[in-house]
Amino acid sequence: KRLENTVAERTQELLEKNAQLELLAVTDQLTGLFNRMKLDTTLAEEVAQGERYNTDWSVILLDVDHFKKVNDTYGHQKGDEILKELAFIMRRFCRSNDVAARYGGEEFLLILPETKMVGAIQIAERIRLEMEAQSFQHEGKEFKVTISCGVAEFDKDRLNTPTQLVNCADNALYTAKHQGRNRTISGSPDGTDQA
Ligand code: GH3
Ligand code: MG
Ligand code: MG
Repeated sequence: KRLENTVAERTQELLEKNAQLELLAVTDQLTGLFNRMKLDTTLAEEVAQGERYNTDWSVILLDVDHFKKVNDTYGHQKGDEILKELAFIMRRFCRSNDVAARYGGEEFLLILPETKMVGAIQIAERIRLEMEAQSFQHEGKEFKVTISCGVAEFDKDRLNTPTQLVNCADNALYTAKHQGRNRTISGSPDGTDQA
């Protein structure tokens, strides 16, 4: 009986450890958001859903403005703090089935199931404005950091692979940077991006 109990306990411990490891494998260490690995699987799943059930869904690509300069001026540590703050804001403006992830460096991707372009733009704008409202401190002085966003909506005919969708959002982001940053631009399959 005692042996049975011990085996049951160890099995439970192993299951818990496995669950922890699985979560760790899809988590970005700095921000606690999901990582690139989770993004890739979720994008593939959403594409399959979209094709099969005609569901609407969108993505937002977010990028910190002039982040290299922020690092150079205030230090890498402060830069890390800003990435954590942005991650915190993203999480606050997300719904439970959205996937918020760090795409790499100072770029983030939000996957929004059951969300059309208009809804995605609204969420992007809320996050952007909240980030703009924050004040950061360095040696007693306040400073601001802004982000730019590119939005793309799944389109069964024209934007139907993860690569196409992310590229579309990336092109819109590029337009946002070009137009002066601190703004959200929606991408379209034919490349006519709109503020
Ligand atoms: P833009 O407005 O056009 O996006 O300009 P940018 O300076 O933000 O873009 P750029 O790609 O030139 O620089 C990105 C910087 O992000 C450079 C890199 O050192 C910094 N970075 C990437 N990952 C991290 C990180 O984990 N922590 C910190 N502190 N900085 C990072
Ligand atoms: Mg970047
Ligand atoms: Mg940047």
